[in-house]
Amino acid sequence: MGRQPLVAANWKMHGQRGRIASLIAGIRSGLTAVGGVEIAVCPPYVYLQQVGELVTGSPIILGAQNLAVEESGAFTGEISGPMLAEFGCHYVIVGHSERRNLFGESDALVADKFIAAQKHGLVPVLCVGEKAVHRKAGTTEKVIAEQLDAVISKSGIESLANAVIAYEPVWAIGSGKTATPDQAQPVHAFIRNRLAGHDAGIAEEARIIYGGSVNAANAKELFAETDIDGALVGGASLNAEEFVNICKVAATVAAD
Ligand code: PEP
Repeated sequence: MGRQPLVAANWKMHGQRGRIASLIAGIRSGLTAVGGVEIAVCPPYVYLQQVGELVTGSPIILGAQNLAVEESGAFTGEISGPMLAEFGCHYVIVGHSERRNLFGESDALVADKFIAAQKHGLVPVLCVGEKAVHRKAGTTEKVIAEQLDAVISKSGIESLANAVIAYEPVWAIGSGKTATPDQAQPVHAFIRNRLAGHDAGIAEEARIIYGGSVNAANAKELFAETDIDGALVGGASLNAEEFVNICKVAATVAAD
């Protein structure tokens, strides 16, 4: 059986109760005829309970955008894995480039968060990706290898069997400059090969999704690539119709 695509919404720091209610209502009604794709939404922490209630009885899966390494304690402003699990999260994004670049998260910290997520029954969506400067310098693979290896060496290759990897070139995030299939596919293949160097079975099963200015118009050619198993969607996920259309594209490509 092939890999089931995952389309996950990263709402980042966007939302208001009313807007979220209509967004989820729009996604729910638009998704009634969409099958064969896993769909997740990752709202800001404070809306997890609301979204958890709104998606009940639908196939939409709840995820969070970040977590603390620690379980509890004097860590003002942090949210832990057990808290996310209690609120019904299945996925949690770790190592998003905004966390790495704006909040100084190192490869080592991201690896610790990955481990913490799995310890509490959450499935990490591990984000990796190069900056424009790396791509220009030809060091994309080196950067991605370092980000991946930090997790594999601390957590073990087996842990990748219960995780999703999101390849998100930093220059493509929120910029409207999506990677072309010719740019994205080789990196996805590189990631899969890197996993295969440790365990061919895990590499074959691993879902490697793409993120960076995905929309309904560019999704088809990306999803058609062999090693692209769905998308992590930021801006376009704040529009129900656009997000649903991306999910429909994933379903159509998977069925082909
Ligand atoms: C993201 O933040 O993970 C992302 C992919 O954002 P966007 O789709 O807006 O580029």
